Amino acid sequence: MEHDTIAAISTPLGEGGIGIVRLSGDDAFNITNNIFKSTQKRDKCGPKPRYLYHGYIKDFENNIIDEVLVSFMPEPHTYTRENVVEINCHSGIFTLRSILNLVLQSGARAAKPGEFTKRAFINGRIDLSQAEAVLNMTKAYSEEAVKTAARGIHGELTGTVESLKEKIIEIRAPMEALFDYPDEFETDGINYEEIEKELIELDKELMKLLQGVEKNRAFQEGVSVAIIGKPNVGKSSLLNALLQKQRAIVHEIPGTTRDLLEGYMNLGGYPIKLVDTAGIQGTEDPVEKQGIELSRKAASKAKLLIMVTDGSKNWTNDDDEIAALKNKGQGMLVVINKIDLDRQLDIETVKRHCPDARVVETAAVKSEGIKNLEEAVTELLDELLGTGEENPVVVSIRHEEIIKDAGESIKSALNALKIDPLEMVSLELQNANEKLGEITGETVNEKLLDKIFSEFCLGK
Ligand code: GDP
Repeated sequence: MEHDTIAAISTPLGEGGIGIVRLSGDDAFNITNNIFKSTQKRDKCGPKPRYLYHGYIKDFENNIIDEVLVSFMPEPHTYTRENVVEINCHSGIFTLRSILNLVLQSGARAAKPGEFTKRAFINGRIDLSQAEAVLNMTKAYSEEAVKTAARGIHGELTGTVESLKEKIIEIRAPMEALFDYPDEFETDGINYEEIEKELIELDKELMKLLQGVEKNRAFQEGVSVAIIGKPNVGKSSLLNALLQKQRAIVHEIPGTTRDLLEGYMNLGGYPIKLVDTAGIQGTEDPVEKQGIELSRKAASKAKLLIMVTDGSKNWTNDDDEIAALKNKGQGMLVVINKIDLDRQLDIETVKRHCPDARVVETAAVKSEGIKNLEEAVTELLDELLGTGEENPVVVSIRHEEIIKDAGESIKSALNALKIDPLEMVSLELQNANEKLGEITGETVNEKLLDKIFSEFCLGK
């Protein structure tokens, strides 16, 4: 148990209906009572748990800072399992900061990012995978991500991991009994065939958890899509049409989009980061060269490339070079834009140069073909990322790696079963068990905890 009392503003800083300053720790009630003057009578033995008290926050000169509603939540049935107070005030940056300052001057310490949730973990209310799901919930940009995070908070991954660990313990039990009491147990009592079957089954279960992980992660973290092409083909216009907002500055002089422009949208459930890159072409201009370098980098990081061409012009060597930017694992769509003008470039020509790419025709400035383009992007992402599990429980790279490592240990145990003494099998199973414990936080070090919780926002 950590005993100092922490405090933070738990709602976004900005104008709004309600803002919350939250405190957690042994002194949370006393500290609040220093500055909170309730208009309601309170019992001498303390505030009623989880009851909203109306009153005023006053500074040390007795000036009213805000009219508030305050709830006192005594341990252990709270978010952190410590005494928790929530001061509901009017949400203005100044009000929230003034109240937090008074709380800090009264003896609380400013909470670090994620510290409330870290205390919930340390005090045993939630495990690490649930804490990570809380983080995912605050960062969820799609409906699917919200659903997955909710299931994580509810403890679905915890349950799955616990049952796998239980199975490993059961498989190990007769081996351990043999090692501990060699006189009472016989090696013949070990059913190698049965163990082999169980290990194969266990490995299958682990690998099943990884099905659709990439797609589930895409729903959670988003997908980067880069718009590439020669200057002046309509990349910025296409970005605008897709975002339906005038974010990019559309200009007629070739090579004007020097910086990368980004926009966010949601397609088929995928949160998408669209990056509009500088036009790529052979040039001696140093500034333009820099822009082109940036474009190449953005293209290499994207999951999907939308290569834009000008339908009123012919295919050129520059187009071939741009098409060659696509690397393995990336998807590519070629857009023939400006189809409202006299046509020079047809689908067959594009297909000849990019046999694997899908081709979509658009007139970006007229918002024509945009719906087709959106459908093509969604379909291609579905193809690239594989089918998502209906019941996703694994999303993060950390969990994915742990499960892969645990799977490796199970496979090694299977090998050891054929050629090594039983001690080796047992050791590999113990490794698998410890690995899985890292998901729930049973076996993690302080450094990793700090890293995970530092990604949280303040006040969570
Ligand atoms: P970028 O350099 O590839 O980003 O191209 P822009 O989006 O800046 O467009 C270059 C020029 O082409 C601008 O004058 C646009 O108005 C024009 N343009 C873009 N898309 C279309 C289109 O579909 N049809 C027509 N006729 N003009 C377009």
